[in-house]
Amino acid sequence: MNEPYRLAGRGQDRSDLIVEIGPLRFGGPDLIVIAGPCAVEGEETYLRAADAVKAAGAHMLRGGAFKPRTSPYSFQGLGREGLRILAAAKRRTGLPVVTEVLDLRDLDAVAEVADLLQVGARNMQNFPLLKEMGRARKPVLLKRGLCATLEEWLLAAEYILLAGNPQVVLCERGQRQDRKSLRCALDLESLPAVRRLSRLPVIVDPSHAAGSRGQVAPLALAAVEAGAHGLLIEVHERPEAALSDPQQSLSPDEFRSLMDGLRRRPA
Ligand code: PEP
Ligand code: MN
Repeated sequence: MNEPYRLAGRGQDRSDLIVEIGPLRFGGPDLIVIAGPCAVEGEETYLRAADAVKAAGAHMLRGGAFKPRTSPYSFQGLGREGLRILAAAKRRTGLPVVTEVLDLRDLDAVAEVADLLQVGARNMQNFPLLKEMGRARKPVLLKRGLCATLEEWLLAAEYILLAGNPQVVLCERGQRQDRKSLRCALDLESLPAVRRLSRLPVIVDPSHAAGSRGQVAPLALAAVEAGAHGLLIEVHERPEAALSDPQQSLSPDEFRSLMDGLRRRPA
């Protein structure tokens, strides 16, 4: 056995792993669309955004309560108050939610609300966090690090699987290309490669890869062509006023037309 990822790897003949969240099945034929604001900014605005993405056909909600921000002066998220708002949005829409676990000390509180626990790109190699995720009883969304190789990403998933949690969904979110700016580029090649190497479901976050609104829809469509099992899309009711990632957030109208475009894809 010289496969580096004994559990995450495809091995000889292991079939795709399906990660189930309520009625949703990540890794099967259905494309799962997760949408919502980058951060939970307040109850009314979040609930309106949740209603809008649900009406457009999103299957699941996103929204960060704890935000990893490049600058310590930027909005850091509402923390536990954000979790309370996510719980309210779940009750109202009936949709499951994904939100980030930034710090191990918040894991229990996040796991009480989240249906899918996000490990952000910056924490992809936070090994103590990965081991604790392995003990969590909820599925984990593992984002690829900003400059991580496929091997590093799959070995990070292996940490979670080895620690006892078999439910891991991978998320490609763009790779840092230019050391002089924060811009990323979506690595579409990683999709067929990961699907060949691994049995885990893999979704794509075109929002953080694009960094600008106009590129989100074309990248989302390309990601689906390249084999993504799902998409993670940032949507804000007034993108220009978003407290984090305003440039890349879609308006509800833009999200609706992306959903229409996805539905029009040839079978
Ligand atoms: C996010 O999805 O909220 C996020 C912070 O993404 P990433 O960790 O990929 O930068
Ligand atoms: Mn964001």
